[in-house]
Amino acid sequence: MIRKRTLTTADIEWRGTQPRSAQYGDIYFTSEDGRCIEESNYNFIQQNRLPERFTSFFNSDATRFAIAELGFGTGLNFFCTADLYLRSLHRRTTKHTAPPQQLHYLSFEKHPLKRDDFARMGTHFPQFKPLCDETLHQYPVAAEGFHSLQLANGQIHLTLIYGDVVDTIAAINTNLTQIDAWYLDGFAPSQNEAMWRQPVLERVGLLSKPGATLSTFSVAGHIRRGLQQAGFQIDKAPGFGKKREMLIAEKLPRSESTETNTASASYRYADKPWFIRSKQHHNHQDAIVIGGGLSGTGVAHSLATRGLSVKLIERHQQLAQAASGNLAGALFTKLSPHDTAQNRFYQYGYLHAVQHLQAINAQKQQHDSTISTRCGAVQLAYSEPELARQKALTDHNIWPELFAQRLSKEEVQDVSGFRSELPGLYFPRASSVSPAALCAARCNHPNINTVTHTSAIKLIQHGNTWEVINENGETVGSSPIIVIANAQDANCFEQTRFIPLNTIRGQLSYIPSTIESSALRSIICYEGYTLPATEQQHVVGASFNPKSTLTTIDSADHHDNITKLERAMPSLHSALQLHQIDSGEKIKGRVSFRCQTPDYLPAVGPIANLADFELCYEDIRKGALKGLLSAGDYLEGLFISIGHGSRGLTSSSFSAEIICQYLFNEGPKIDRETLEHIHPTRFAIRQLKRHHNRFN
Ligand code: SAM
Repeated sequence: MIRKRTLTTADIEWRGTQPRSAQYGDIYFTSEDGRCIEESNYNFIQQNRLPERFTSFFNSDATRFAIAELGFGTGLNFFCTADLYLRSLHRRTTKHTAPPQQLHYLSFEKHPLKRDDFARMGTHFPQFKPLCDETLHQYPVAAEGFHSLQLANGQIHLTLIYGDVVDTIAAINTNLTQIDAWYLDGFAPSQNEAMWRQPVLERVGLLSKPGATLSTFSVAGHIRRGLQQAGFQIDKAPGFGKKREMLIAEKLPRSESTETNTASASYRYADKPWFIRSKQHHNHQDAIVIGGGLSGTGVAHSLATRGLSVKLIERHQQLAQAASGNLAGALFTKLSPHDTAQNRFYQYGYLHAVQHLQAINAQKQQHDSTISTRCGAVQLAYSEPELARQKALTDHNIWPELFAQRLSKEEVQDVSGFRSELPGLYFPRASSVSPAALCAARCNHPNINTVTHTSAIKLIQHGNTWEVINENGETVGSSPIIVIANAQDANCFEQTRFIPLNTIRGQLSYIPSTIESSALRSIICYEGYTLPATEQQHVVGASFNPKSTLTTIDSADHHDNITKLERAMPSLHSALQLHQIDSGEKIKGRVSFRCQTPDYLPAVGPIANLADFELCYEDIRKGALKGLLSAGDYLEGLFISIGHGSRGLTSSSFSAEIICQYLFNEGPKIDRETLEHIHPTRFAIRQLKRHHNRFN
C-alpha cells in the first residue's frame, strides 16, 4: 500500500501573540499572553495534581513518570509541564539513587507547526527559552510516525507521534505503555470530531495505569460517556476564566471498570499473545551487553544514558572489529513509497540515527577523531524501476523535502561535484560515518565499563541474575539484565540458538583519492556506493555474497565494485583513475561477514522461554485457533539485538531504544506491527505454524 508520510503542517494565522488554526477555525488557547500559561497550568497541571505528584515521585524510587497529550500544538502544555518537572526536581529533599528519574511526555499531533511558527511561539515565552531552544534544535521533520527527543540532559524524553491520532494511537502496543496522566487538548469537539471519537478514548483507557488521571476543557456528553466506557470515573471541576466547568477523570482499577478483554490472563489467537510478556522488568541498576560492535555499543549507550551501570563484553582486543570495522560507512536509507513494517523500521531507524549522530557529535570530546560528516547522499536513478520508484516517492510527496528531494542530472552535479548522466534522489541528512569512532564515542561514558578480549559463550540463570561464562568455564560477569548483541556468535547461547542467522560476505574496495576525486562532496549510491574520501581513501562498496566463506580479498569483487561505479557515474570513475588500475589485486579493501536473518529484519526484543512456549502454544501446532491462549513466558532480563546486516549504522541506535522500551515500559518508539516484525519470537512461532498446513 502506498502511503503518504508527509503531513500538512499547521496553517496558523497570528493575531498578535495568539495563534489560530485556519484548518480548524479554532484558537490554540483561549487566553492571550501570560494568561495562556495560567490556563495551561490550571486545565492540565493542577487538574492532574502534578505539583504534588511530581514531589512524591521525586521522593520515591520510581523511575518514570509518563504524561500523554492529545494535540501537541504549540507545545505550550509541554513546556509548562517540563518546567514544573525540572523545578520540582531541583527542590527534591531526598537523594535518589541510580537509575535516574525521567519524565516521559508523549504527544499526538496531526498538523505539526512549521519550524518558523514553532520558533516564533518560543520567543513569546522567554521563561522556557532553554527548553524551547533544545526542542527546536531537534525539531522533527513533518513526517508521520514516532519522533523521539531527549531534553534537559536526558531527564525529559519527548515523543512526538505525528499523524491522525485515530490511526496512531491504535498502532501503539498497549502492553508496553503505561500512562500516569492525560491531557485531552484537541480543538473543540464541534470543530475536531476525530480527536474525540470513542475508539480514541478506548485506547486512552487501555494505555493508562490504574489510577491514571485525565483532564480536558470539554464537558460534552459523549466525551463524558465515552470516558466512562473506557474505564474512567469522571467528575467536573470549575472551568478556567469565563468557562463554567471542565472535566477531570481517574482510571479505575481494571475490575471496577466496565472495559472488557485487555490484560486478562487469556487472549485470542488474533491478539498474538506470544508477543505479550506475562512478566515485566523492574528497576535494575546494572546490565551486561555482549558484543562491542554497532549494535552492542548502541545498547550500552542507551542503557548508560538511563543511568544503568553497563559492562560491555567484547571478544576482540578493541571495539568495532567485525562487520562494524569498516573505514567508513553511509548512514542512509533506501526509501519506498510502500507502507510496510520493514520500510517503517528502516525509515524511522534512519531518522533516529540522524538525531543520535547529532547528539553524539555534540557530546564528543575535542581529542576524539571525526565520527561523521553530514555530506548528504545522492541515490542515482540507475535503472528504470529505480527511476519509477523515485518518481512515485516525490510525485506523491511521500516524505518531506528535508528527508528526500528529487534532483535533475544537473542538480546531481551541483550537489555531488561530479557530472552525472542520471537524475537522482537527494538525502540532505545522510552522513559518512566512521563506525569505529562512533562505537568509541558511545562507550566514552562514565557508566560504561568496556571489557575487551573476553568471550561470552554461555549464560546461566540463577533466580533473577544471569551469569556470563567464558570458554574456560569462568564467570566473566553477572547481572539481572543481559543484552546479546554479538551477531552470529549469538548462536553459542542455547537460549537464542532458535534465531536463524545467515552470514553474508561483503567486500569493500578502498580506492586512494586523487586531486580530482577529492571534489566529491556527497555519498553516491547506485547498485553500490562510493563515499567522499576518508584518510585519503574512498570507500567503494560493497559486494554481497551469501555463499562465500572466503576471508581474504577477492579481486573479482573489487572488479565488481568498480564496474558498478563506472556504469553509474563514469566521471567519478575516471577522476579516481580506476582505468589505470589493471589488476584488482593492487587495490586495498576489507572483507567482513554480516549477520542477517532470513527475512532481512534484525531480531530485537526479549527472549522467550522456549521450553514452556511450545507447551503453551501447542494448539497452534495442531491448528486449533478458537481456544484462549496465555501471554508468553519470557526469560526475565534477557534481550537481544542482532541481525542488522549491512545496515547497523541505520538500525543500531533505534534498536537500542526499542530494547529500552521493553525494559522500562517507556512508551512507544514505533508501532506494534513493526515491533512484531523485528521480535525474536517471530521465528519460534513460524516454526510452530510450519508444523500445520493451515498456516503455510
Ligand atoms: N496542547 C496544545 C498546546 O499546548 O499548544 C494545543 C493543542 S490545540 C488546541 C489542538 C491540536 O490538536 C492542534 O495542534 C491540532 O493540529 C491537533 N489535532 C487535531 N485533530 C487531530 C487529530 N485527528 N490527530 C492528531 N492531532 C490532531
